[in-house]
Amino acid sequence: MQPFQLTTLSQSSLQDYMDCAQRFKLRYLDRLSYPAVETEPALENEKHQQEGEYFHRLIQQHLIGIPAEQIARFANTPNLQRWWENFQTARDLTGLRKILQTRREKPGDVSALYPEANLSAPLGQYRLLAKYDLIALQDDKVTIYDWKTYRKRPRNEWLSGRMQTRVYRALLVRAGAHLNHGKPFEPEQIEMVYWFADFPEDPARLTYTSLQFHRDWDHLVKLVGEIASASAFPLTDDREKCLFCTYRSYCERGIQAGDMEQAEAEMEAEELFDVNFEQIGEIAF
Ligand code: SF4
Repeated sequence: MQPFQLTTLSQSSLQDYMDCAQRFKLRYLDRLSYPAVETEPALENEKHQQEGEYFHRLIQQHLIGIPAEQIARFANTPNLQRWWENFQTARDLTGLRKILQTRREKPGDVSALYPEANLSAPLGQYRLLAKYDLIALQDDKVTIYDWKTYRKRPRNEWLSGRMQTRVYRALLVRAGAHLNHGKPFEPEQIEMVYWFADFPEDPARLTYTSLQFHRDWDHLVKLVGEIASASAFPLTDDREKCLFCTYRSYCERGIQAGDMEQAEAEMEAEELFDVNFEQIGEIAF
């Protein structure tokens, strides 16, 4: 099969490459769609994922100006109700709610919110793309918010090592100048906040430094150089990863799907439960 000419990379594709080069090849070069059930129980997990996607859309609508009372009417399942209530009351989101309020009361305020912002920058022969849940500017600080509807709170160390954390912060330095009057953000101005809808008072706050930025960007350059020149995409040696992988029967790495609780406990299958914005439908308010 003639491989697809890949021109863009994202945190998801890079994470796939890190997890299993073969998965990266099948998904992004061969474009092989192989709809195996990724986790069990399948129906319950699919519902949870759909609710997670819908929740992202509710927050996005609120951030662009739809009043909370109106949004609350659409939070019409127990999960959505709880998440929305948590979003409204979480102490850690007080700063964000203040920005929203100030913006309503003083339209000239310099604080700025960019929900679902897209950034991109050249990286080797590719373009690196990222879609952020929210970039919030206040004073000289910039916060990347990412909403998570995981059933378990992952460890900060695990989150720090994820490609999402490394790509989102580094790309904001490389490609975020237009949000900062044409001046690139200093890494020290940036903080990434993973806010967990089911653990509202325990977000992960990951600050950034110039040293980390240079380390991350060097790592990304090296990684894409490796991808560009790769002639083989081996199967991972870590068979645990196959348990939650859609290609496992194709690779002859088992038929049975992994268990959702186990997946989340190990947090090995993040992409299964993360939100793909392209899949989110519009909500008519
Ligand atoms: S089943 Fe295993 S070896 Fe095959 S693509 Fe998935 S993770 Fe890689």
